[in-house]
Amino acid sequence: MRKLTKEDLVRLLDHRIFHQISRLADAMGIECYVIGGYVRDLFLGRPSKDIDIVVVGSGIRLAQALAGMLGRGAHLSVFSNFGTAQVKYHGLEVEFVGARKESYSHDSRKPVVEDGTLEDDQNRRDFTINALAVCLNQPRFGELVDPFDGLLDMEDRLIRTPLDPDVTFSDDPLRMMRCVRFATQLNFFIDEETFEALARNKERIRIISKERVADELNKIMMTPTPSKGFVELERCGLLPLIFPELAALQGVEKVNGRAHKDNFYHTLEVLDNVCAQSDNLWLRWAALLHDIGKPRTKRFDPSLGWTFHNHNFIGAKMVPDIFRKMKLPMNEKMKYVQKLVGLHMRPIAIADDEVTDSAVRRLLFEAGDDIEDLMTLCEADITSRNAQRKRKFLDNFKLVRKKLVDLEERDRIRNFQPPVSGEEIMAVFGLSPCREVGTLKSAIKDAILDGVVPNEHDAAYAFMLERAAGMGLRPVEGKG
Ligand code: ATP
Ligand code: MG
Repeated sequence: MRKLTKEDLVRLLDHRIFHQISRLADAMGIECYVIGGYVRDLFLGRPSKDIDIVVVGSGIRLAQALAGMLGRGAHLSVFSNFGTAQVKYHGLEVEFVGARKESYSHDSRKPVVEDGTLEDDQNRRDFTINALAVCLNQPRFGELVDPFDGLLDMEDRLIRTPLDPDVTFSDDPLRMMRCVRFATQLNFFIDEETFEALARNKERIRIISKERVADELNKIMMTPTPSKGFVELERCGLLPLIFPELAALQGVEKVNGRAHKDNFYHTLEVLDNVCAQSDNLWLRWAALLHDIGKPRTKRFDPSLGWTFHNHNFIGAKMVPDIFRKMKLPMNEKMKYVQKLVGLHMRPIAIADDEVTDSAVRRLLFEAGDDIEDLMTLCEADITSRNAQRKRKFLDNFKLVRKKLVDLEERDRIRNFQPPVSGEEIMAVFGLSPCREVGTLKSAIKDAILDGVVPNEHDAAYAFMLERAAGMGLRPVEGKG
């Protein structure tokens, strides 16, 4: 954290817009402050574009005055039922709100709102580090108002609620997700009392919409080490409520002295490994879900030990249900995650054995353009503590990657379409759609993927005639 004096804050609030707001507020005779995340991030040296302004009086009137003063280039939106307004200006988003006092009823996170003082407004904030305010009026410009020792918490790297955490969390249970999210994003600790209140109030999360929970989860997913957030969610008991399939991965079972690994912690390790390689949110989701089918496929076999046969297949089948339930997008992102979960064992199976051209061609055929991401996921999945075994896999992966490049150049398998189409097969043999057409088509595909026939029309056509003859099919007059 940076130690900032009033002079530093004056210097940091150098954007013209702060001085324009200041002059207008003085002229209108109203108190106003920049508050919340923007102030926190000044101290943390994090860049931010969203500015929140709290006004003791009407936020809307000040926003209107500012938009009028800025003229062209400023865009004003007024939300009169919320008593807020927003001014967008050259990439900045400035939110104006009147200082307010909130009171909550048990069954909703929508409070009853009345006008209040700056202190009332700071009381309704979620965490001490999010309650810092800096005055913008002229004589006090740059003066920090920090009633809950947010600065000290920032120094100690603590997430703590300004009021009794049971009240803060019960009033608006979304704050529980925000608590874990901020701890993960900022790499802060959750204060002990605050943490205990998370555990006590976890059931309240049920009144929060799935979309809001998913937004917070995605923010956790986009941090450099999301494992931290999931460990906290598990520790406080929120995880089974918001994501039971992931919570089910947790735990170790032992039979005849043989234990399997804890798939929850393994998954988190894979997730962090992927995050070190890629910012792609959906590749990160694929990492989080890659073993999601394990609990349903777990068996103990006296000779083999613990097995999870087909967990990739069962996992892929679970993906659409999970996305639907969690209100994640049901579009090509979901399909991509599903595909990677389904294929995540393939490169490992290849690398565990001899790396043949045929196996690599098939892999390339099925993964298509997602092959790079699949390889990233699979390399991240090697969390073995046995250095020799890990080395062997990683070396074999290098070989797989090299072959992928060689074969791609030679055979153009990615996005491969068999060179003889179903229509052509039907025309040659005078068939209407039937099983024989499908059999011939997949025989051609397999022959090409196995390297028996080159990926070219004439060679594939000759192969088809030969195979068809074996099935008793003859070309119609003038074909073949
Ligand atoms: P970021 O924008 O990086 O997510 P932020 O702290 O700016 O972080 P916002 O959601 O933009 O978060 O909210 C701005 C401020 O509004 C917060 O700093 C906090 O003071 C307050 N706030 C937002 N949501 C809540 C909430 N659910 N309960 C209490 N205060 C909140
Ligand atoms: Mg913000």
